[in-house]
Amino acid sequence: MKISLVVPCYNEEKNIQEFYDEVTNLLSTIDCTYEIVLVNDGSKDNTLVKLQTISLRDERVKYISFSRNFGKEAGMLAGLTYASGDAVIILDADLQHPPSLIPQLLEGYNEGFDQVIAKRNRTGDKVVRTAFSKLYYKIMNKFVDIELTDGVGDFRLLSRKAVNSLLSLQEYNRFSKGLFSWIGYKTKVIEYENVLRNEGESSWSFSSLLNYGIDGVISFNNRPLRMLIYLGLFVMIAGLVYILCTFFQITFSHKSTPGYFTTISAILLLGGIQLISLGVIGEYIGRIYYETKRRPQFIIDETNVEIPMLEQVAK
Ligand code: UDP
Ligand code: MG
Repeated sequence: MKISLVVPCYNEEKNIQEFYDEVTNLLSTIDCTYEIVLVNDGSKDNTLVKLQTISLRDERVKYISFSRNFGKEAGMLAGLTYASGDAVIILDADLQHPPSLIPQLLEGYNEGFDQVIAKRNRTGDKVVRTAFSKLYYKIMNKFVDIELTDGVGDFRLLSRKAVNSLLSLQEYNRFSKGLFSWIGYKTKVIEYENVLRNEGESSWSFSSLLNYGIDGVISFNNRPLRMLIYLGLFVMIAGLVYILCTFFQITFSHKSTPGYFTTISAILLLGGIQLISLGVIGEYIGRIYYETKRRPQFIIDETNVEIPMLEQVAK
């Protein structure tokens, strides 16, 4: 049996050697062949040089280097595309996904599971971030048709079947958390204690998390559009009732209401709803726009993966 490790790396020069040492130490105790696919996602530091050095010394190490930063999703996709193992394990280069869990992941695989997920708790995370994430997952699970769990990220083992299914999903806007869950298969979850980043900084800012969150909602169904229809209906009925009430008030009790109040409230309320609606519709149209361009998800600048394989994939 062959295991592939897929590791997206962005500005990880300080972590990658330590990561490599730890992983290879661990894998040497396991009876299997393996390869490590390191994806350099347009790092601005010396990550690429480190990857080249490591791959020169160890032929089990493949590296793929993008022409610019394409994001972690693209990094994982490239890794999965070029991984040749019977089981693929995706993990971060910053040692936040403890390699010591690999034996447990493999155990799950040997028990016949196609996805073995490592789920972390949130010990040591910023309180605000934890609270937002909890709230987000609560709302998300009401919105989307698939099940998303807090603490479940990209750290997981996928069987060849599961990898092939993921690769068959051709969409440009990839929200992996959702895709993993969408493909289904027999899944096992193992839990681990949260680990803080080894060196460097997390590349997630608050706004990038917010954008990721919106992607999650919009990628999976058209329920936000449906909600807008309900909202529009509700406002329309409320407005009608209000107009009728005012009309009867004027005709029967001869009371008058100040005109500017009603005008301003109507403008604000409707204006707000219209802007949100336009935004949501725009999001979907934007997605259609990107999907129709059929651009590749990433561009490879250089790699030590053999060329025929690359050509095959490019087609
Ligand atoms: N990463 C990447 N491309 C990016 C951002 C991050 O390949 O544009 C990699 C990064 O090198 C790391 C993993 O994705 O291996 C997780 O990133 P990070 O540690 O910044 O995220 P967090 O752990 O805070 O979720
Ligand atoms: Mg990290």
